[in-house]
Amino acid sequence: MSRGNLFIVTGPSGAGKGTVLGRLLPSMDRLRCSVSATTRQPRPGEEDGVNYYFLTKPDFEAMIQRNEFLEYAEYVGNYYGTPAAPVNECLEKGLDVILEIEVQGALIVKKKRPEARLVFIIPPSFADLELRLRSRGSESAETIQKRLAKAKEEYASAEQYDYIVVNDQVDGAADELRSIIQAARCAADRRINLLR
Ligand code: 5GP
Repeated sequence: MSRGNLFIVTGPSGAGKGTVLGRLLPSMDRLRCSVSATTRQPRPGEEDGVNYYFLTKPDFEAMIQRNEFLEYAEYVGNYYGTPAAPVNECLEKGLDVILEIEVQGALIVKKKRPEARLVFIIPPSFADLELRLRSRGSESAETIQKRLAKAKEEYASAEQYDYIVVNDQVDGAADELRSIIQAARCAADRRINLLR
């Protein structure tokens, strides 16, 4: 059995990554989404171990010391990181894995695992992004401003990505992402054994 494919999905907060992934995941077999660790506070409705592992700063830093992250980054004042072991276990079992992470982390993973495919998700326009962030209502005006400034920075890195998905309609964006994953599964170097 061949190793699973690794996908990275990045998008500014408010691009609707979570909604698109929520639509995609139940519709595809052999696909898993990694659960990250973070030091940020849970938002209403978020569950520890499901949306994130919510850690204290000292606990997060202890994981850094033990080299347990595939990548980690600081984003708007908090740490976010991908625990390496669960990702590797899934890939070894032949499952495809999605990391939903920001740009700095994405580029670290691309260096360590050049075969990873990088997907950038954007809303139809920047104005739309601002509207989505404000209507979420879960963050202060200051945090929203920081997140918008961060989004501008992130757009500049999109050139280093392999694919750009436009989240105009959730279904359409989920279809685009599904096609990217299907295409990776059909890659000749993964299927050449079938000819032997
Ligand atoms: P949020 O606070 O909105 O859940 O996430 C903020 C940003 O952190 C998003 O861009 C999200 O993709 C990113 N993020 C979530 N988990 C990780 C991770 O494990 N590593 C990195 N580098 N970024 C992450």
